[in-house]
Amino acid sequence: MEQTLSIIKPDAVKKGVIGKIIDRFESNGLRIAAMKKVQLSEQDAAEFYAVHKERPFFGELVEFMTSGPVVVMVLEGENAVAKNRELMGATNPKEAAPGTIRADFAESIDANAVHGSDSLENAKIEIAFFFAKREIV
Ligand code: UDP
Repeated sequence: MEQTLSIIKPDAVKKGVIGKIIDRFESNGLRIAAMKKVQLSEQDAAEFYAVHKERPFFGELVEFMTSGPVVVMVLEGENAVAKNRELMGATNPKEAAPGTIRADFAESIDANAVHGSDSLENAKIEIAFFFAKREIV
């Protein structure tokens, strides 16, 4: 059993597809172990995406992630990290496989509907960034 962190990004929250995205997880064997809606500050977003701070898109990424509320979740299930990445689809929605969350709900490579941890190690760090132990049930 693994846990991974998922974020429904501001574009998808604005579009009103929180429920549709959650349905993809629950219909594919990922259980919601924790969930909350939050408005990230600039500092939150910069810290969360610190690995990308040298990338040219970092400033825009922080601006986008703070442009409205997000929904953060801990998803739990067998191979949860890989399963979530599979359900999300490629970073660029134009390259995302049909039927994936990004193919169906994302606008562009930056406003791409969802975040998902890319390894078990990062999942642990990202989960601890957002949730206290008692919030994960
Ligand atoms: N991103 C962007 N421009 C790019 C590449 C990435 O704005 O050229 C943003 C996009 O929102 C992406 C995030 O930075 O989801 C993190 O990038 P990563 O390569 O880790 O993609 P992911 O793991 O989210 O698929």
